[in-house]
Amino acid sequence: MCGIVGFMGRTDVAPEIVHGLTSLQHRGQDAAGLVTFDTRFRMKKGLGLAAEVFRNVDLKAFAGPWGLGHVRYATQGKDDLMDAQPFAINYPFGIAMVHNGNVTNFNELRKELFEQKHRLLETSNDLELILYTLASQLEQRRLGNLCAEDIFDSVEETQKAVQGAYSTITIIANEGMLAFTDPYGIRPLVMGRKFTKLGIIYGFASESSTFDYLGYEKVRDLKPGEAIFIDKERQSDTKELTVQGRAFCVFEYIYFAREDSHIHGRLVAGERVRMGKKLAETFRATGLQPDIVVDVPASAYFFASGLAEELGVPYRRGLSKNKYIGRSFISSSQTEREKVVRQKLNPIKEIVEGKKVAVVDDSIVRGTTSKHLVKLLRESGAKEVYFVSAAPPIRFPCIYGIDMSIKREIIAANYEIDGIARYIGADAVIYQSLEDLRELYNDLPCCYACFSGNYPTGIGSEALDEIERERVCSKNQQKELPF
Ligand code: SF4
Repeated sequence: MCGIVGFMGRTDVAPEIVHGLTSLQHRGQDAAGLVTFDTRFRMKKGLGLAAEVFRNVDLKAFAGPWGLGHVRYATQGKDDLMDAQPFAINYPFGIAMVHNGNVTNFNELRKELFEQKHRLLETSNDLELILYTLASQLEQRRLGNLCAEDIFDSVEETQKAVQGAYSTITIIANEGMLAFTDPYGIRPLVMGRKFTKLGIIYGFASESSTFDYLGYEKVRDLKPGEAIFIDKERQSDTKELTVQGRAFCVFEYIYFAREDSHIHGRLVAGERVRMGKKLAETFRATGLQPDIVVDVPASAYFFASGLAEELGVPYRRGLSKNKYIGRSFISSSQTEREKVVRQKLNPIKEIVEGKKVAVVDDSIVRGTTSKHLVKLLRESGAKEVYFVSAAPPIRFPCIYGIDMSIKREIIAANYEIDGIARYIGADAVIYQSLEDLRELYNDLPCCYACFSGNYPTGIGSEALDEIERERVCSKNQQKELPF
């Protein structure tokens, strides 16, 4: 999961990029970078938060009315500066690119690019692969000036070659700005615009809240397989290219996206309330009745308030959060994650003491955070603790850019629900059912692969094993498994 932005106006866009990246910081905290273009590319990348990377940077040195930005959460590729985005090349065209997602046929394509096009990748970042694939396609069509049709044809061939999930924004020097998505539209990408005295500034961003923040109007979400090209005269053209059906990542609604973003016409906060309300049906079927519903701050608030409303019991903030500690999901190791949880959440004793508490979280991945929270609530006097997950049991790894965990670490891949309750020490564990979640999205085809194992792009067991092996190696987690 990463955050990307791109802007194309008449005046320098570097400040716009930095503000845009700050609004997407929740999507990645490993590295941040920007590139601008006027007559040449100017690039700045660094490890850490956008605010840290750009703190002492004079943005006037990054002149240019076209620009891209990226905040990185390392999945494919390592979390060092070599793999930080944007990437840029000078031949056959000046091209700079950012992306959000994950390529699933990385090794195959890397070999093909080397053997057939003599391109040698310098990094293990899959963006480099998409960039060279597109560049090779553009090169074949470069007789005369590139036109929108050449660019769309090149994107179409790139989409056929590159499998997986990707939302990308590209600057083609002197030509324009291009945005395109994978044929299933797995990752979000939205187009916006702002009217100024100097004309329209076009923008692309991973989430619509970036545009609220910058005073832009949201134009629309990109469709699966769609490409939008804005030429140097700022005329926009669009084409739906390789469309293979829609499979939008449902986890964007559950956890990744900001609650104030709108994706495919739905407010994320509203979706979380709907999921909370739906959970009440499963909760009632257990015959259990909590005295209060509390949330695991801050991402579970809307689920918890929806559940409480539907069950007719009070919602209370029962866990106080130290907001200056980072997201445990994004922390790189198990030891680090446990330390973060300990520092991050503190139960409010007077609220939970003597009560049957339903504690709601967005999901249960490894179970270590849940286990610690149950322990804290019991130590604070909770009579019973029911652990509620707004997401169905996660049983399979995501191969589309969310490095949830390796399969051996995912608790629901290894235990049934009773076993999970015993492991985390809860009186009951209540999950959203996959059927209920699908029912909520019966008008928006989504990806549910981490729950069902049905990967929309298809993937063989050998390729899955390979991804698993690479994750184990790259994260060096063998010593830190919770089971
Ligand atoms: S596997 Fe899960 S997290 Fe990954 S894209 Fe599909 S729904 Fe999203």
